[in-house]
Amino acid sequence: MNLSSRTIAVLIALLVAGVLTTFAYVVLTLPTHQAFLVAGITVAACFLLVYLAFEALIFREINGLYSRLEHIKRKEFKKLSNKFLFRPEPLQRIGDEIVQMAERRQQELDELMRLQALRREFLADVSHELKTPLFAAQGFVHTILDAEEADPANGMEPATRRRFLQRAAASLDALDALVQDLVTISQLEKGVIRMRRQRFDLVALVHELFELLEQQAQRRGTTLELFPPHLAERALPVIADRNRIRQVLINLIDNAIKYGRERDGHVIVSLTPGRNGVRVAVRDDGPGIAPEHQARIFERFYRVDKSRSRSAGGSGLGLAISKHIVEAHKSAIHIKSVLNEGTTLEFKLAKPKELKGHEHVR
Ligand code: ADP
Repeated sequence: MNLSSRTIAVLIALLVAGVLTTFAYVVLTLPTHQAFLVAGITVAACFLLVYLAFEALIFREINGLYSRLEHIKRKEFKKLSNKFLFRPEPLQRIGDEIVQMAERRQQELDELMRLQALRREFLADVSHELKTPLFAAQGFVHTILDAEEADPANGMEPATRRRFLQRAAASLDALDALVQDLVTISQLEKGVIRMRRQRFDLVALVHELFELLEQQAQRRGTTLELFPPHLAERALPVIADRNRIRQVLINLIDNAIKYGRERDGHVIVSLTPGRNGVRVAVRDDGPGIAPEHQARIFERFYRVDKSRSRSAGGSGLGLAISKHIVEAHKSAIHIKSVLNEGTTLEFKLAKPKELKGHEHVR
């Protein structure tokens, strides 16, 4: 039943007047016309009293709600207090509901603003990263074309032209790698890429990657080692997506070579089987990473030494991609780094449930 304050006031007034008039008529034996007069006056007085009391209360409560809304507008949720001692239940509930709703909306709004800022930053980073190799390739190609136009008979000297073309090709390769990494990271973030868990031998994978990266390591005077060495003769099965873990290990070993010690450096991949899985760690003895950069190197395009890292040729997405892949395996990637001593990046992989004896030996 939906009763307005006026209807309630009329009903209360009629009730009180009824009781009083009956009392005056029966007990005090007033004449009929006086009893009617009493009834009229009581109805009017009661109605006015009850109605005004209701209105005053409701106005005060609504004013209270307005002042709460004012606080909400100024994001001062904490300052909101229950100042009103007498408060009809529905108004209290409305007030509380408004505060809670406003609080939730404000949090959503803050989160949206944060995401929008991140998206803007990411877009700015992507366009900057795309521009660098694109402009380089464009520059080399235009230099060759300009030389051809200036002297159509001879053009540019063949050796120089070849060198310029090689540089343009290298820039386009870097652009291609960057676009592929961007596609991978957006798919990983959307959850489109599913990990295809399978049983494979981690030791064999490390050997394969050492062969792949051997020449690059030699060029920097770095040796690649497996620890403990006796593992080289054995198999260490794990359950994971082989291709994706291969990609993670390439990123980590490649970084350890690129950013590790230049001459006489050591990159050590250590595999430690434990009860909960196999711990995989890639360690270098390079200059290390200062504590303030350590958590940030997993962010997209974050580089400690901007110019050096970019000239070393990375897309700046390697560790962000690796982190996503490792987390999709329900694991986490950790960094330990000490300045002037080196850096270790490690994560864990699941072991097959039951290991049969012969699988330990190749
Ligand atoms: P990049 O393509 O620049 O190598 P990554 O995401 O792989 O991008 O790495 C991010 C940054 O983290 C690198 O630019 C580098 O500054 C730093 N970094 C990564 N691995 C190492 C390491 N082993 N030693 C020192 N710095 C590292």
